[in-house]
Amino acid sequence: MFNMGAARALFNVQMHSPGARGPAKAATITASTPQPPNVAAMTPIHEQDFIDSIADALQYISYYHPPDFIHAVHQAYLREEGPAARDALAQILVNSRMCAEGRRPICQDTGIVNVFLDVGMDVRWDTRRGIDELVNEAVHRAYTNPDNPLRASVVADPLGARTNTGDNTPAVIHTRLVPGDRLDVTVAAKGGGSENKSRFAILNPSDDIVEWVLKTVPGMGAGWCPPGILGIGVGGTAEQAMLMAKRVLMEPVDIQELMDRGPRTRAEELRLELYEKVNALGIGAQGLGGLTTVVDVKIADYPTHAASKPIAMIPNCAATRHVHFQLDGSGPARLEPPRLEDWPQVTWDAGAGARRVDLDTVTADDITHWKPGDTLLLSGKLLTGRDAAHKRIVELIDRGEPLPDGLDFHNRFIYYVGPVDPVHGEVVGPAGPTTATRMDKFTETMLSKTGLLGMIGKAERGPTGIEAIRKHHSAYLIATGGAAYLVAKAIKSSRVVAFPELGMEAVYEFEVRDMPVTVAVDSQGNSVHESGPRIWRAKIGKIPVEVA
Ligand code: SF4
Repeated sequence: MFNMGAARALFNVQMHSPGARGPAKAATITASTPQPPNVAAMTPIHEQDFIDSIADALQYISYYHPPDFIHAVHQAYLREEGPAARDALAQILVNSRMCAEGRRPICQDTGIVNVFLDVGMDVRWDTRRGIDELVNEAVHRAYTNPDNPLRASVVADPLGARTNTGDNTPAVIHTRLVPGDRLDVTVAAKGGGSENKSRFAILNPSDDIVEWVLKTVPGMGAGWCPPGILGIGVGGTAEQAMLMAKRVLMEPVDIQELMDRGPRTRAEELRLELYEKVNALGIGAQGLGGLTTVVDVKIADYPTHAASKPIAMIPNCAATRHVHFQLDGSGPARLEPPRLEDWPQVTWDAGAGARRVDLDTVTADDITHWKPGDTLLLSGKLLTGRDAAHKRIVELIDRGEPLPDGLDFHNRFIYYVGPVDPVHGEVVGPAGPTTATRMDKFTETMLSKTGLLGMIGKAERGPTGIEAIRKHHSAYLIATGGAAYLVAKAIKSSRVVAFPELGMEAVYEFEVRDMPVTVAVDSQGNSVHESGPRIWRAKIGKIPVEVA
């Protein structure tokens, strides 16, 4: 608790301080003498209100998409002409509604917590603890909430053991002191897939920003789970540009309003130009090729050195999650649940045009008949595994040691996933795919040494992964990133098979029924993430398609 007596004493000392020279003299207060702040009139921010508000906000954003984002994705769905991209958008919208209804996470990656605090200078903190400690208590509480546990994705010691902290702490916290008597808080949960696609460059002052963005976005692939938002920070210094790019992502989606009223600033002109041109790249939802890659482009700028033009770009993904509130001393924030009527009535038919595949009997020959873009409905048993499990498996193989008892990949598919813990009778919590390129370096060993048939993940494969798939006549399938709760509904049983100590990164055996996936790389090494955007870029016809 803040000690009022101590505060008064402090101000008395300041007013009567002898300073560095001379004996103490009582200060004479004149009209021009700066007055000490009236502590009693300052807005108290009570410790528990602050913790409760942030913990509630983290639960809230885990299952409620911002309504402006959902509206924009729905508009994209209505416009979309690419069948695979339209299907992915439908899954994202249906998943979003299910999560709002069921109060379960939109995505299995429930993110690393970002908190932005604008602290009014007429605010006083009613606590003796540091702000970081309070925020992290809120994160702990939110991520271990028994009614809706969120996935712990944060690891300590990133240079070494990379040990999961178990409760998703610590958060990344940015604090500014601003005029006013309010505490302004923005809470976001940022998925690793989209955060990993952040980009930065120091351009020459004469370099063209649009050119850099259009060159950079295709190289980001689809691991950031488009459609989403690009946040761009230009100017300042390196770290300032990155921070602006992240902060500006927290603003409302309003590109349509901007189009309607027309740009008033250079930044607004650029937003419109980039919105049109990035979408003209034809990347589309999940990188499958289509009309909408971004539902908005946000730009913030700041004065910079005459020799510099720093530019940072950070994408927000299909699981865009943030909320904003103010504390005014009257209690914790009250976050109104959005109305379920605000969610569009989109239906999604998993079976439409899909081929059914029995994972328990599928053969290497069957796989050779699949083509990029084919929709499959998988039933039967598959194994899971992601970064840490792959590393362990490949290390065991390299040392000539056997895999753990019961772990047998012969004629199996592996699903790259780290699920959320189940609650209330669920088989598994939200369990969407993770980015497959991180597993590329393990793929040759997995296909040549374990008897694995194929893989399921999200986004494109890199050259190493594709070469291994082609060489072993395997296949790579994708599930929709950002539709994790929907995907989890297809999982009928789950058990840990190996490495239980890895938590969400353990190897599980899932039994699935009608799990929807798309063939992304066929047994010849043809990739839908190469052909889809190329075809749609040509169809849109605003940006030339380079001939390799
Ligand atoms: S939607 Fe994709 S990028 Fe976003 S949190 Fe989920 S898996 Fe990660």
